[in-house]
Amino acid sequence: MQPNNLSLTIAHLYPKSMNIYGDYGNILALKKRCEWRNIQVRIDEIEIGENLEEKKYDLCFAGGGQDKSQIAVSKDLLTKKEQIHSLVNQNIVFLTICGTYQLFGHYFLTSENFKITGISVFDLITKASNVRKIGNVVVKHNLPIKPETLVGFENHSGNTYLQGETQAIGKVIKGFGNNGKDKLEGARCKNVFGTYLHGSLLPKNPHFADYIIKLALENKYQDKIELQKLDDKLEFEAHNFILKNK
Ligand code: GLN
Repeated sequence: MQPNNLSLTIAHLYPKSMNIYGDYGNILALKKRCEWRNIQVRIDEIEIGENLEEKKYDLCFAGGGQDKSQIAVSKDLLTKKEQIHSLVNQNIVFLTICGTYQLFGHYFLTSENFKITGISVFDLITKASNVRKIGNVVVKHNLPIKPETLVGFENHSGNTYLQGETQAIGKVIKGFGNNGKDKLEGARCKNVFGTYLHGSLLPKNPHFADYIIKLALENKYQDKIELQKLDDKLEFEAHNFILKNK
C-alpha cells in the first residue's frame, strides 16, 4: 500500500504524570516522522481519570515517572486494565518506558516494601534496589530491523525480572538494562514494547520509531506498508555518538 492517505491516531497516556528524561521527545519523533511522509497524525493526551476510548487508537505511548506518580497511575491503569488487554489482543502498538513499563508487569515493590500493582500485560515483576542505575545504554536488539542496536539513557532503582516465556527486546552491551545482572533489556509481548530507555528513545533510534509506526499502520490497514525513506543522517549521528562513547 502506498502511504498516501494513511493516518495514525496516537494516545499519549499520562503526559503530565509520566514524563521524565525527555520522554515527550518520543511523541514528537512519531509525529514528525509521520508528517514528513504525509501520514496524518492525531495525538490525544489522556491523563489520570480520563477515558481511553475503545477502537480509536492505533498506537499508545506512556513514559516514565517517580514512584509517587506510579502509585496514582497504577490506580488509573487498573480501571483501564480490561480495555488495555483487549487493545493488546487486537495487536495495537504500545510503547511504555521505565515507570509505565514496570506497571505493565505484575507489580513494582518500592524500597518501602509497598507493592504498586501493575496490569500484567507482561509476565514480569520489578523490585526497588539500593543501586540506582544511571547512564547511557547500548542494546543489541532482537527486532527485525537494522542497525541492530538501540541506544538510550536509563535512570531507575527498580530491577525488573522477566518471567515465563517473556521475551526481552535485546541484550545489554553497555549499561544495566532490566536488572544489571541477566544482561536483558526491555520486554515485548505481541505489539507491546517495554523498555528502560529514556533520553529520548525514538529520536535517536529512527529505525525503531519507523518499526512501530509500520506495525501500527499494518495492523490498522491489515496490509503491508512500505514507509518512505527519510534522511536520518542527524538521527544516526546521535545514535552513533553513544555507540562510540560506550
Ligand atoms: N521509580 C522507578 C524506578 O526508579 C521508575 C523510574 C523511571 O521511570 N525512570 O525504578
